[in-house]
Amino acid sequence: MIDIKNLSKYYGSKQVLKDINLSFEPSKVYGIVGENGAGKTTLFRCIAGLESHEGTIIADCDELRAHLGFLFTEPFFFSMMTGREYIRLLCNARNVTLKELDKRNIFHLPLDQYASTYSTGMKKKLALTAILLQENDYFILDEPFNGVDIQSNIIITEIIHRLKEMGKTIIISSHIFSTLSATCDEIQLIKDGRFIRKVSQDEFSLLEKEMKEVTIGSQIDDLGLK
Ligand code: ADP
Repeated sequence: MIDIKNLSKYYGSKQVLKDINLSFEPSKVYGIVGENGAGKTTLFRCIAGLESHEGTIIADCDELRAHLGFLFTEPFFFSMMTGREYIRLLCNARNVTLKELDKRNIFHLPLDQYASTYSTGMKKKLALTAILLQENDYFILDEPFNGVDIQSNIIITEIIHRLKEMGKTIIISSHIFSTLSATCDEIQLIKDGRFIRKVSQDEFSLLEKEMKEVTIGSQIDDLGLK
């Protein structure tokens, strides 16, 4: 359980998160949806303890960041570090003994190559593999499906289902609605730093229709395609 109370965040005089109250329970997958700049990444960074903020973020464990796997939109890797070394480093940081890494390399990554030379999709799969092998209880997956091939998308969807079955708490952001409706129990809409709506599974198709109408309107007709 992660409990967020009265969370606000300022960058200078600009308030980017506005009095957020949310809770995330185990065995549930939460989708966070909002336009670019709405505040999703800032919220994730606050939960991960990477940003100072007002308000409280409490979890039912000693130190949330020690049990949290955070997949960044664009994972960063030091040069001269192989994929294998990266995974070992992250597991060591959690005191997890890593066994049978080659068998568990389900995305077939070239683990002995420098991770900085991986493609965008491979970097994401490496970062995801590492946080999974760390045996975390909480996961924040910021755009996990972006830049990843279709086979991996299917695998990631199944991994999310499995994590849920295992009682983990999962928070995802995605701009691809179908990936959210396939994985989430609940979708939260954020706009200008404020959570404006909570949508449960039975309303997902309505939400998708509304979002299409708001986003597209008559713009395609205006193209005058012939
Ligand atoms: P999202 O992930 O929803 O696209 P972000 O959380 O990245 O949104 O950004 C929310 C707002 O905070 C944006 O207006 C962005 O410009 C601003 N912002 C994000 N990071 C910083 C920063 N380090 N310094 C100043 N402003 C920032």
